[in-house]
Order: sequence, then structure tokens, then C-alpha cells
Amino acid sequence: MADHLFAPGFKTDPYWWDAAPRPSVVEAALPASIDVAIVGSGHTGLSAALTLVRAGRSVAILEAEVPGYGASTRNAGYVGRTLYAKYPKLEKTFGAEKAVALTREGVTAHEYIVRLVEQEQLDCRFEYRGRFIAAESQAHYDKMAHEFEALRRVAPMEGHMVSRADQRTEIGSDYYYGGLVLMGTGALHPGLYQSALMDRVAKAGATIFGKTPVTAIRREGTGFEITTSRGRIAARDVIVATNGYTGAPTPHLRRRVIPVAAYMIATEPLGENGVRRLLPTRRTMIDSKTNIFWARPSPDGKSLLFGARTGIDDGDLSRKAILLHGHMTEVYPELANVRMTHCWTGNMGFTFDLLPHAGVVDGVHFATGYCGVGLPMGTWLGHKSALKVLGDKGGRTPFDDLPFPTRPFYNGRPWFLGPLLRYYAWRDRRR
Ligand SMILES: Cc1cc2nc3c(=O)[nH]c(=O)nc-3n(C[C@H](O)[C@H](O)[C@H](O)COP(=O)(O)OP(=O)(O)OC[C@H]3O[C@@H](n4cnc5c(N)ncnc54)[C@H](O)[C@@H]3O)c2cc1C
Repeated sequence: MADHLFAPGFKTDPYWWDAAPRPSVVEAALPASIDVAIVGSGHTGLSAALTLVRAGRSVAILEAEVPGYGASTRNAGYVGRTLYAKYPKLEKTFGAEKAVALTREGVTAHEYIVRLVEQEQLDCRFEYRGRFIAAESQAHYDKMAHEFEALRRVAPMEGHMVSRADQRTEIGSDYYYGGLVLMGTGALHPGLYQSALMDRVAKAGATIFGKTPVTAIRREGTGFEITTSRGRIAARDVIVATNGYTGAPTPHLRRRVIPVAAYMIATEPLGENGVRRLLPTRRTMIDSKTNIFWARPSPDGKSLLFGARTGIDDGDLSRKAILLHGHMTEVYPELANVRMTHCWTGNMGFTFDLLPHAGVVDGVHFATGYCGVGLPMGTWLGHKSALKVLGDKGGRTPFDDLPFPTRPFYNGRPWFLGPLLRYYAWRDRRR
């Protein structure tokens, strides 16, 4: 075993939890009734709660684990302005008008979170430096340039291509074939973002009940009866915000959301100059593989955070860490002997059409399936769900009326994912 790659005190909790430890669980009894019950305490649930409490509704957030347990405190912190699904594909599927509306919603979500951070003064080390999207091959570079031209014709996007010869201005590596610098994007500390949001939500009067899994949601008169491990609660409205952790209490969603595990490591401190050698502009980086590599500086600029091998179960997180380290040194050979301080995982929520979905099923509101862009999109669609509950027409989104596909026999356990992603990883390596 490559023991020398583990720093003393190596952790399998998220790097973010060092600066933003998970809060303690409220012991208070559940209220007998509430205006709105929100299931899940991530970006989606908290954003919905903030809008609702500020509009005078009483809100209880019910969380199965510790508050903020899910992907919202485990992600990479990239604040993008695009959807996972590319514009040309959307246009082919939905026609130009709908494709433009969906694509622009990515930009609106981005603008919303930027405004929220500013207005609420959420101290989350938001840095607005852009993103470098590295091309895995010359063919990917050409495709990227073409797709970016299509995208900027329909939505406000700024950026420029960087050739392979010039790429060292963006990345301290010769691994890639150049790429695209996408401006108008940034990165934050997701743990601190989540903690700051929790603080605003609590101050406004909502309570997060941790260690309170919801086990059933049943219609009762004009409202709902929600069963939890800590008793029942009557709610006029319910918002389900469980994304990649969606389970049995919402079978309709469970059949439509695909939990996909993503993995990251953090290096020991390399010093600011050390990190600048790897990412000279301090932008975030992702590449164009199907099963992507991504890297960013830690918010203090001293360590590198790196992710790869999404959706592939390689055993425990120590073993996973070694495999991720191997990929990191493919890109950055100079890191071969650098130790890791953390390796962690979390579940993203994907969908069969690779699009987010929001709406109402059997009277229950939901927002889900962000396909890896849930930091802005979850924040935005949580807010939109809240507006719907409030009967505000501003709650409508282009994601509302999309068909929400499932597959025969799919019940929330994506048995097909491992083989598929291993195949992609193998194909990616044959560039
Ligand atoms: C490693 C990683 C990197 C990522 N990087 C990025 C990125 O850079 N940028 C980006 O935009 N997105 C990124 N994402 C995706 C992003 O984190 C998610 O889309 C987003 O956090 C989803 O927020 P959410 O509130 O909907 O769900 P979550 O934060 O996952 O919260 C769902 C919560 O629901 C709870 N829950 C589930 N069932 C129940 C129940 N029955 N009762 C009570 N509670 C329940 C869970 O315990 C969980 O806490 C990444 C994800 C991962 C895992």
C-alpha cells in the first residue's frame, strides 16, 4: 500500500468540514403542524426555506442525517453558468425556443446565487476568476470551440479558446490539448456557503431537525401528514429536496433520479507558489473527458483539490484516494510524492435526460436532478419551488413542464452505472 501518500491525520470526511464542521442536531420536539415541511437540508432545501420564512411561512426542515450531510457540503464549489446538457443536443431534442429557454435558465441560476451571496453577505470565499475547460484531444478542442460558438449565440457567455501551445498560461501541465476559458464563473467554499445559509435560515425563524429521516408522506385533507423517526408532523405543503439521496418515501422521484457518487482528494499544503504552478490563473479546471478530471485551488490557495473516477466503486476511500492520486499525477507528474490530507465522496443526482427537473407530483413540490451543477441550480430551483408554494407566478421555470423519464425496472439502484462509467474511463484513456 502506498502509505507514504497519506498525510498524518488523513481524513475521509470532506475537506470543507474542517472550516465548517457539521452543526449539532436540534433536540427540540417536532411541532405538531407547520406551513411547509422541507425534506433535505442541502442548497435546495435551505434556499427554499429562506424564501418561505422571509415571506412569513413557518418552516421545518427535516434531515435524515446531520444538517448539510448531503452533496451540498461535499461538492467542488464551482459556480457555473451552464447546464450539464450541451446546447446543440438540447436544440436537437426540444427545438430552438425551448433549448434557448433551458440554457438561459443556467445563466439565471448563476446570477441568482451571485446576488444571494452578495445581498445576504454570505461569507464563503467566493472568487470570480473563470474556469479552464481542458481539451482531452484535438478533436475535443475543435468540438469545444464549435459548441461554445453555438452557446454564446443564445446565452450571455464570455470566453476564449487557448491553444495547446499557449496552455501553460492556464495549467502547469502538457497533458491537455488546450481548451476554453469560460469567464463569468467562479468558485466558493461550499461548507461555508452552506453554514452561512443555515445561519440566515435559522435567524429568519426556520428550524432544521437533523437525524430526522422522513419515512412517509401522505395526503391528509388539504395538506399532508409526514411521518418521521421522531414522530408525525402536519404540513400544508411539502418540498422534497433530496436529490442524489432520494429514497423510498418518494417512489416517483426515486424511479427518476440516478444517484452518482463523485470523489475528491485534497493535497497537503503546497504553498501559494506551488498551487500557482499548477493553476497559474487560480481558475477552476475541468476537462472534456466523459468521466471528467477536475481540479481547483483550495480557497486559501495553498492546496490542490482534485476529483475523478465518478460513479466507479473502487472499494474504501483509502483505496480510492490512491487511484485519484494516480490520475492527479497523470496531469501533474510533479505531485507524485505529494501527500493527501482528505478523500471524500458524495452523491450527485442525475436524470435519464441529463436535465434538472422541478414541479409538483401528487401535490408534493420537488426540485432535483441537477447533473453536477446543483450549487447554482439547486439554490435557484429551491427558491423557485418556494415561490410556487407561495402561489407566485415567478415560480415557473422552463424545467417545470419537461417529461421526466424513467426506465423499465429502474427503482433508484443504478446497477448499470459502474460498468458504463468504467467503459467511459477506458475509452477516455484511448485518446
Ligand atoms: C464531489 C461532488 C462535487 C460536486 N461539484 C459540484 C460543483 O462544483 N458545482 C456544482 O454546481 N455542483 C456540484 N456538485 C453537485 C451539487 O453538490 C449538488 O447538485 C447539490 O449539492 C444538490 O443539493 P441538494 O440540496 O439538492 O441535495 P443534497 O445537498 O445532496 O441534500 C439532500 C439531503 O436530503 C437528505 N435526505 C434524503 N432522504 C431524506 C429523508 N427521507 N428524510 C430526510 N432527509 C433526507 C440527505 O441526507 C441529504 O442531506 C458536486 C457533487 C459532488 C458529490
